[in-house]
Amino acid sequence: MSNLVEENLRTVKQQMELACQASGRKTEDVKLLLATKTVPLEKLQMAMQAGEVLFGENKAQELRDKFPLMQRYNRVEWHFIGHLQTNKVKDVVKYVTLIHSVDRLKLGQALHRQLVNENKTMDILVQVNTSYEESKFGVPPEVALELVEQLSQFETLNIKGLMTIGKLNATNDETRHCFRLLKSIQAEVQERGFPRVDMDVLSMGMSGDFRVAIEEGATIIRVGTSVFGQRYLPDSYYWNENVRQDE
Ligand SMILES: *Cc1c(COP(=O)(O)O)cnc(C)c1O
Repeated sequence: MSNLVEENLRTVKQQMELACQASGRKTEDVKLLLATKTVPLEKLQMAMQAGEVLFGENKAQELRDKFPLMQRYNRVEWHFIGHLQTNKVKDVVKYVTLIHSVDRLKLGQALHRQLVNENKTMDILVQVNTSYEESKFGVPPEVALELVEQLSQFETLNIKGLMTIGKLNATNDETRHCFRLLKSIQAEVQERGFPRVDMDVLSMGMSGDFRVAIEEGATIIRVGTSVFGQRYLPDSYYWNENVRQDE
């Protein structure tokens, strides 16, 4: 018996495979993360039953709500992919194995403080605003290197790479430009050889642009709509909150 989520997963994986073939990459080098904001538990469960193990949430509250379900599937891992306010850090480090969205020093400091308290370390990615769109979070590309250097002073943070949201409703060339920019920042950072900085992970590509992202070197693609269907809340609810950047 198959359901719509399973069918969508099959389609997405075929497309991933084609993009890998087209760019001479191995399929196992690209991970599929399912973006689950607003997705009801039944659909989440379908994906878990289909064998999916990597999920990403945008809000601490939704993460908390969905956590009990996740615990029933022991291989499942959660990542945090949304804008993270410093007062939510405590909740988030409890549940996730990778935070994709570290985009300012203040957040790094808050994470470090919490992790020291808990005697833990955390894998993180630095989010870069490669499209320069105001509605999106992320450090401007010109200061990404500096932020990575500043964050590398915190011995509780393992910097694993970079994340970006490509320009939306754009042509393939425009999104490709965003992904290439991220890749070039990765190379720049690698050259510097900061402590605790690996830079192997490139989290880029969503439903509309993951094929291009794979061609440009993505190691994690974050897909929601193509697997779960349209969301009932607009993305501006998640990406354009009226929060101060230093919160
Ligand atoms: C919602 C979201 C995605 C997935 O977007 P789709 O277009 O639904 O695939 C990926 N990354 C982030 C940060 C998101 O908030």
